[in-house]
Amino acid sequence: MTEIEVDHLIIGAGFAGLCAAIKLNESGERDFVVIEKDSDVGGTWHINTYPGAECDVPSQLYSYSFALNPDWSKVYSPQQEIWDYTKRVADSSGVLDRFVLDTAAEESHWDAERQRWIVTTSAVGSGARTTYAARTLIAGSGGLSEPSLPDIEGIETFAGHTFHSARWDHDVDLAGKRVAVIGTGASAIQLVPEVAKVAGRLDVYQRTPNWIIPRNERHFSTLEKTVFRYVPGAQRAVRASVYAALEARVPAFTRFPKAMAAVEAQVKRNIAKGISDPDLRAKVTPDYRAGCKRILVSNKWYPALDRDNVELITDGIARVTSTGIVAQDGTEREIDVLIIATGFHVTDPPIAQHITGRDGHTLADVWSKTGMRAYKGTTIHGFPNLFQLVGPNTALGHSSMIFIIESQVRYVVETVRAMRRDGLGAVEPTLAAQDAWSDAVQRRMRRTVWTTGGCASWYLDQFGHNTTLWPGQTFTFRRQLSRFDPDKYDVTALSTVPSDKGTPTAKEAVSA
Ligand SMILES: Cc1cc2nc3c(=O)[nH]c(=O)nc-3n(C[C@H](O)[C@H](O)[C@H](O)COP(=O)(O)OP(=O)(O)OC[C@H]3O[C@@H](n4cnc5c(N)ncnc54)[C@H](O)[C@@H]3O)c2cc1C
Repeated sequence: MTEIEVDHLIIGAGFAGLCAAIKLNESGERDFVVIEKDSDVGGTWHINTYPGAECDVPSQLYSYSFALNPDWSKVYSPQQEIWDYTKRVADSSGVLDRFVLDTAAEESHWDAERQRWIVTTSAVGSGARTTYAARTLIAGSGGLSEPSLPDIEGIETFAGHTFHSARWDHDVDLAGKRVAVIGTGASAIQLVPEVAKVAGRLDVYQRTPNWIIPRNERHFSTLEKTVFRYVPGAQRAVRASVYAALEARVPAFTRFPKAMAAVEAQVKRNIAKGISDPDLRAKVTPDYRAGCKRILVSNKWYPALDRDNVELITDGIARVTSTGIVAQDGTEREIDVLIIATGFHVTDPPIAQHITGRDGHTLADVWSKTGMRAYKGTTIHGFPNLFQLVGPNTALGHSSMIFIIESQVRYVVETVRAMRRDGLGAVEPTLAAQDAWSDAVQRRMRRTVWTTGGCASWYLDQFGHNTTLWPGQTFTFRRQLSRFDPDKYDVTALSTVPSDKGTPTAKEAVSA
């Protein structure tokens, strides 16, 4: 197997990996490779193709600050439009020549002597098997990327079609079929209204109802798009107003959960408008504080549940048989297709099993004992020169993840610049710095609605800690990551003068 030396290896070609590639390139760091196990760029927006897949943050904000798009068709863009956007940005950025698709990062370990990450890749599809030796490893493998499957007795015995919402099987025609959807989270509330239109019968299995606010949905007019394109500053002003409106919600999540009563009243009005049956209204009304689980946005969910061909089942699932689902009350409902919409591995990211640090422990080993911890959500004690994009406590319940991603990438670029300037071969946050950061985050978490709201959510890990969300304003996060802070790091001088002689450049390696 050939070994390719690169300065930076980026895992994943979603918004995060793509942003890292573009910004490193702009800063003069051109010797990098992006490996992506999928067949195209776009991450979430290439992979999640279920019917109804859309953004739930306005697209004026859910886009890169350096690549505004005046042509968004509507306030909340559909999946295809966002995927097209990522492809356009990738195409025009001049970095695609260093992307290796159909290739997964398999095992990565830190070689202290060489001060490099040794990363072996497996071939997926037409991709090739390679080893990379990289000075930095930038993991942009996604926080909501790996489907989480429910542990239900007999699920593997179901003889009909089964697939996860994030791996939609477009070959299965749902028209007239008896379909079951397990889960009522963010993906389910988008796909159920679409499936309900074509399915003969649709059973929706709900464990806990969500608070679902109406969506201020509308298309942009030709005039608006023209203004966005040609009037300097107009689109930035709209973007800033969306940003400010979403940030204004933060105190209710983090410090004043009682303020969520206003959201609850709004949702109850939405339920009354969408659902006629009082029993069904009761089933979809949550008994915990709004915001404790992700607040969802839809105008279609409640009317979909009110349809004659749709049944909401809240008794819990006892088991799956070869022909259907048996509820806890003993009722068996036969189905042809089973759609699993139970979310993703969030607090146990699969990539962590494949990254082995300085002491020979995998990141998964370390985090299984402590929960996910990282300094500034990005760098990790014991794992020199590793940057985890969308790392611990960086996700948002209220705004655009792209803002967070850009903040983290800025920190990566600043750190790499400092390493080059100061001749550093390895940087690793001290345990004290990482603990101080993570402990402060957890202290702030105590007052939040995610902790006090009376629900169990996917934000929480095996210890009951919220290691997923950032408990504050996003501009605070950005400020904290605005510069590299060497006093919080153990730094080691470059041990060997890097020799490019005889080793292919990233560009040559990719085209080889
Ligand atoms: C259905 C859905 C809707 C969402 N809606 C919103 C929204 O409205 N607003 C919002 O802010 N966020 C939303 N999110 C979160 C969304 O994931 C982030 O906004 C953003 O797309 C994350 O980008 P990323 O690059 O970090 O991760 P991803 O987009 O998940 O990309 C990660 C990439 O890494 C690749 N990869 C993973 N492991 C490996 C490996 N071992 N080797 C090589 N490649 C690998 C994956 O194939 C993938 O392409 C949504 C997520 C989902 C699933």
